Amino acid sequence: MTTRITRQNTPGSLLKAVQEKADVNLGACYQCGKCSIGCPVAGEVESPPSEIIRRLQLGAGDELLQTGLIWTCLSCETCYARCPNQINFTAVIDALRSIAVEKGVAKPQGDAPLFNRSFLNTVRSYGRAYDLKAIAMYKLGAGNLGQDMDKFPAMLKKGKIAILPPSGTDKGTVKEIFKKAAKNKGAGR
Ligand code: SF4
Ligand code: SF4
Repeated sequence: MTTRITRQNTPGSLLKAVQEKADVNLGACYQCGKCSIGCPVAGEVESPPSEIIRRLQLGAGDELLQTGLIWTCLSCETCYARCPNQINFTAVIDALRSIAVEKGVAKPQGDAPLFNRSFLNTVRSYGRAYDLKAIAMYKLGAGNLGQDMDKFPAMLKKGKIAILPPSGTDKGTVKEIFKKAAKNKGAGR
């Protein structure tokens, strides 16, 4: 394994910030690689999970916030489930995402920000994800509304997607959560 350490801007401090945010002890990682072997996107990224942990252990700085896995991670928690030391690497990724956004150095790949906005807008409006609207907003924004439309009837038939928005949700509480998150984000600047 080739480990790239270039130390930019915040040598040493990124490990501490990530450990605090994710509530994990990365010193417990002994590089067995089980997380990386199970990660479904490890082959698509520059640094798989175990390498990101190693880079943090060795004092990587802000350059690590540009790493592709931060934005391609599916939050499937396979890494966490496979770790013999119960290291929650999904929480590590969440912490890195959050720090990257806070520092204004987030470089999400492709249409990821558009997808996130489309998805979260429906959660904010309906109290839960409304897949059909999220997909429509995303596809409109990306300019490919017609793409994959042939799959829609089969998804509908198999009950994989609902026409109507979710009902019976606690919209008020969800709106409050969004408000608090926006306020905390402002306070963190
Ligand atoms: S949670 Fe992310 S890093 Fe962990 S196995 Fe899944 S895709 Fe890979
Ligand atoms: S599975 Fe756990 S101990 Fe093994 S490399 Fe990944 S984080 Fe480290």
